[in-house]
Amino acid sequence: MCGIFGISGHKEASRLTYFGLYALQHRGQECTGIVTYDGKENHLQVGGGLVHDVFQEKDLSALVGEYAIGHVRYGSAGNRGVRSALPLSVRMAGGLQLAIAHDGKIINAPQLRKELEDEGAIFQSNSDTEIFIHLISHRLRNLSLEEAILDACKKIEGAYSVLILANGKLIALRDPHGFHPLLIGRMPDEKHSYVFASESCAFDLLEAELIRDVLPGEMVVVEKGTEEIVSYRFGEGTPVRQCIFELVYFARPDSTIFGENVYQCRKRMGHTMVREARQEVDCVIPFPDSGIYAALGAAQEAGAPYEHALIRNHYVGRTFIQPTQSMREFGVRVKINPVHSMIQDRKLMVVDDSIVRGTTVRTRVAKFREIGAKEVHFRVSSPPVLHPCCYGVDFPSSEELVAVHHSPEELRQELGLDSLHYLSIEGLMSTVSCPNSYCAACFTGVYPTALPIAE
Ligand code: SF4
Repeated sequence: MCGIFGISGHKEASRLTYFGLYALQHRGQECTGIVTYDGKENHLQVGGGLVHDVFQEKDLSALVGEYAIGHVRYGSAGNRGVRSALPLSVRMAGGLQLAIAHDGKIINAPQLRKELEDEGAIFQSNSDTEIFIHLISHRLRNLSLEEAILDACKKIEGAYSVLILANGKLIALRDPHGFHPLLIGRMPDEKHSYVFASESCAFDLLEAELIRDVLPGEMVVVEKGTEEIVSYRFGEGTPVRQCIFELVYFARPDSTIFGENVYQCRKRMGHTMVREARQEVDCVIPFPDSGIYAALGAAQEAGAPYEHALIRNHYVGRTFIQPTQSMREFGVRVKINPVHSMIQDRKLMVVDDSIVRGTTVRTRVAKFREIGAKEVHFRVSSPPVLHPCCYGVDFPSSEELVAVHHSPEELRQELGLDSLHYLSIEGLMSTVSCPNSYCAACFTGVYPTALPIAE
């Protein structure tokens, strides 16, 4: 999973892209990059780490031009390090300067890469994104840029929300299933300055107006100096399958994506989860920060006070991305401190948005018992994660997914819980306005595409 941001026709393009990426930092912390176009050439800077570590004042001043795209990357298996940083920027035959930033995963990448290499293409990286460049470049011999991109999309299967900067044209596209979000906005008082971002929280920071989603199977083109956007459709007839895990876990609660306000959606998950498995408790407490919004809904539904009994140290990263088992357990301890008075002699309903490996839950429930909790009832605002994702979300392997090897009752016993309930898939889908337009394959095993063939 990654975050992308782009802007057209603004004299502060690099600085605004920096702030846009800042707002999207939760979508990727491994590396980041910005490309600008100054009317003659592209300027690129990428680096490993957080946005504020990679870009200093002098870097933003050197990224000149009124057009920019940027990217934050979440390191995934087989794709770590600065060599995988995006955007990519290339000069093509005929002088076309093309830069590209991509969120998602191309599931037929190995086949496409082999076909392109057989035709003479030389790849500079192992990133899926380079496949776009080679496919577009081949087609540019006979087609316009827009036609070349649309024709390349016919070959590509999988998840892609993409921004392309090409000699002052800013192009945004989303795969026909629409797996990952991409939104269109407009800068205040700048009619010809459009912004694109993975989530609306990036627009809020810039006081940009949210216009709408780039639709699944839509390519949007902003021409230099024009106020209009031109829309092209492709992949007609493909069922829309937006990633439900974006609403459960990834997106920021202050964002609107897929037409849903993430905060309200998570609260509805909490309400529904409690309606499915009621329990009398003294208080409802979230696992910070991931369980907060579902716990708010759960507390309202349960008629019990919402309390914070676990206080986060905000300077430690997510346990989800720690590399080794021993470091993860250390990470859990260093990151959260319990408030004893909220736990001792009380019946607790503890809420989180998912259980992936189970490491965090195990450590914290043991701590609640040690402190003297009377009862611990665990509620999860999504169904058990049972299957891998092929569309760019880097779950642990099946061996590491705790729900694959434990039924809810086995897990309840192993974790020493008084009760455990996962939100049902029907319950989850009841919290969104168009339930048939979502992918939930990591919960159900029903994949909207053919599965990728191993490399
Ligand atoms: S498999 Fe899960 S994480 Fe992957 S796109 Fe589908 S819902 Fe999202």
